[in-house]
Amino acid sequence: MKACVYYRPGKISLEDLPKPELNPEDVLIRVEACGICGSDLHLLRPPSNTVKRLKLLVRNMLTKPHKVILGHEISGYVEELGEKVKTGAPVNIGDRVTIYPNITCGLCDFCRIGYENMCASSKAVGRELHGGFAEYVVVPHKNIMKLPTNLSFEEGALIEPLGCALHAVKNTNILSEKIKTSVILGAGTMGLLILQLLRTETEVENVVMTDIYDFKLRLAEELGATMTFNARHVNVSEEIKRKFPSVDAVFECVGGHAAIETLHQAIRVVKPRGKICLVGALTTAVRLRLGEVHSKEITIVSSYASTYKDQLEALTLAAKRKIQLKPLITHRFPLARIREAFREALKGTSIKVVIYPHQAM
Ligand SMILES: [Zn+2]
Ligand SMILES: [Zn+2]
Repeated sequence: MKACVYYRPGKISLEDLPKPELNPEDVLIRVEACGICGSDLHLLRPPSNTVKRLKLLVRNMLTKPHKVILGHEISGYVEELGEKVKTGAPVNIGDRVTIYPNITCGLCDFCRIGYENMCASSKAVGRELHGGFAEYVVVPHKNIMKLPTNLSFEEGALIEPLGCALHAVKNTNILSEKIKTSVILGAGTMGLLILQLLRTETEVENVVMTDIYDFKLRLAEELGATMTFNARHVNVSEEIKRKFPSVDAVFECVGGHAAIETLHQAIRVVKPRGKICLVGALTTAVRLRLGEVHSKEITIVSSYASTYKDQLEALTLAAKRKIQLKPLITHRFPLARIREAFREALKGTSIKVVIYPHQAM
C-alpha cells in the first residue's frame, strides 16, 4: 500500500509498504479521509533556532529514526476483521467508521474512570503506531466508532478534533455555569469547533475571537462569533478589555511558539476569578506573568486530546447537525500530493487540510 512515512522533523517519504497485518482484536480500515492536525505539524516543523537545529541534527545521527505513518483523524470502511472480531463484536465488513486514536490499557486508574487520555501506557495511532496517511490502517475494534449515514467521510475525519474541542469545553467546567463572555484566541480548527460548542451547548452571550488571518475571522463570524479581532492590526488585549471588560473564560487555541504572546493576552483579558484553558499544544517554554494570575485568582486548566466518551458525544452532536464541520475544510489532497498538503497546512492560510488516500484528485 502507499503510505507517507515520517522519520524526523522535516523528513517524510512516500513509500510502498505491505498492507498491515491484523491481530485477533483488530480491524483493517480502508482509509477514505485523514485530516492533518496541528500536532502533526509540530512534528514536521524543523526547530526555529540554530542551536536547537544542531541539537536535533546530533540526536538524529545518534538515534535510530522513529519510522511511523502519521495521521490520527481517520475515517473509512472496515475491510477486514481479526479472528476474534469475526464473532460477537458489533462490527461488520463494509461499515463506515471513524476511530478513537488512543489505544490504552483499560486497566489503570485513569482508564477505569474514563480518562483514558491520561493512561500512562497509551499509544496513539498516527504517533507511536501507524496512522492514516496511508491506504490502510489497523486499529483494535474497540477504537472504532460507526459513522451515521448523514456524515461524510471527511466530516468523519473531523470527529476526533471535535471530541478534543468538547473535552476542552468540559474541562473548563462552563457547561453547568452561566457564563456571559468567552474569548477564543486562534480561529483554527480547534477555535472554530469550540466556538460552535459554546454556541450550541452553553448560553454564553458573547464569543470573541482573534486570529491573524481575516478569512478565518470571517468564518468565525459566520459560525456565531460576536466580534473578532485581527491580532496583526490591533492590540487584542486592549480592544477586548475595552469592549468586553468581564471575560469569564479564555480558550488558548494557538499553541506553539505564538503561545508566548497569546497566553499573556489571556491573562490580561480574563476577569478576576476567570478561567483560562490551554488547548493548543505548547511546544516551547513559556514565561508567564504569574503575579497577575495570583492577584486575579485566575484558574488555569488544560485539555489534552479527549476521552472516548467525549469523542462519542462529539459524534452524536455532529450527526444531529448541531456542529458544522464542512466549512472548516479548506484544502483537499490525494496521498500522492501530501508534501504539498503539509506545506499548505504549515502556511497557516488553511484551516483543515484533508488527505484522501484512495482518490486521485
Ligand atoms: Zn489531533
Ligand atoms: Zn490505562
